[in-house]
Amino acid sequence: MTHDASAHAFETRAIHAGQEFDPTTGAIIPPIYQTSTFVQDGIGGFRGGYEYGRSANPTRDSLQTLLASLEQGSSAFSFASGLAAEDALLRSVLTPGSRVLMGNDVYGGTHRLVNRVWAPWGVTLETVDMSDLDAVRAAARPGETTVLWVETPSNPLMKITDIAGLSEIGRAAGALVVVDNTFASSYVQQPITLGADAVVHSTTKYLGGHSDTLGGAVVVNDDELASKVGFMQFGAGAISAPMEAWLTVRGIKTLGVRVDRHSDNAQLIADALVSHPAVETVYYPGLESHPGHALAARQMKRFGGMLSVGLAGGPAAAKTFAESTELFQLAESLGGVESLIGYPSEMTHASVKGTELEVPENVIRLSVGIESGNDLLADVLQALDRI
Ligand code: PLP
Repeated sequence: MTHDASAHAFETRAIHAGQEFDPTTGAIIPPIYQTSTFVQDGIGGFRGGYEYGRSANPTRDSLQTLLASLEQGSSAFSFASGLAAEDALLRSVLTPGSRVLMGNDVYGGTHRLVNRVWAPWGVTLETVDMSDLDAVRAAARPGETTVLWVETPSNPLMKITDIAGLSEIGRAAGALVVVDNTFASSYVQQPITLGADAVVHSTTKYLGGHSDTLGGAVVVNDDELASKVGFMQFGAGAISAPMEAWLTVRGIKTLGVRVDRHSDNAQLIADALVSHPAVETVYYPGLESHPGHALAARQMKRFGGMLSVGLAGGPAAAKTFAESTELFQLAESLGGVESLIGYPSEMTHASVKGTELEVPENVIRLSVGIESGNDLLADVLQALDRI
């Protein structure tokens, strides 16, 4: 039996979309097609359209079908990393002279991609506080701004942008609106349903969910853009490998239950830290004191597992805190089942030091995992005691 996955709720699609059992053996889990090429029945006689692994592979197709279904787009494309996905999308739409208007607290690597990789090819980067739509309206130049690029929640300061409002500004300016949905995950929000033109993911994070694979994705809802990104995936070749695609599919099946638990644990910690004397600011949209709380409550299904903390004792306190947790392990990345702690200004955002994207040096970032919430809270509190 095959499933009309589109008729079902998110949690059902996460398990069934693109995941038909193997017709040859009945294996419930579609196999990993670990192959570089496909035998032809005579010249041009392709079985199922498969010819060569860079152009298409059934395991990658199953992930792409799943991602398109979850994000409610018409097509999805998977890549070797989040940055490879971002680059392929940008290559599909930028030409010399293009202007990119980007949130002023995006992931440092995304800023670096445009600022250092794209700038020498005649592309201009401008940044703005995307949570301030008046500022975005003033900065978007109709006919000149090619791309509006936002992360919401942003990384690491957890600012919330109104995706529907931003999409209207993008439409009026003739600019493509791209949402990096890595921090929220597809379970929490689906930007295409709010008017965005494209969604990108580092599937390395919540979608993979187990810190065991790297990957990226672009999801779009327009055939012309889909054919450009599809051509770039084939023509430039930064595809996801079969094993990585399969691991990502396996991770996605539990996305909803994981993100519910991530969100419960993050809220528990955020609530406990707001009144802690060693803490100056807690950046978490689930707190009523967060400036984006009401918008986040409308736009997001859950508030997610990421939170940042500004320490009252400044950079030294922040570093001691980051090096004193035991369950929260000091590492780059986020979105895995295990809790991680990071010091953005010298880790994830080291590449934007000295720019307007510089992260305050008293800020640490927590990727709250799905361990026992009480154990995680106890760990954070004992680390704060050591400051
Ligand atoms: N977008 C966000 C929000 C990220 O946090 C990251 C990586 O940390 C990326 C994109 C880049 O993804 P990758 O590391 O898979 O290339």
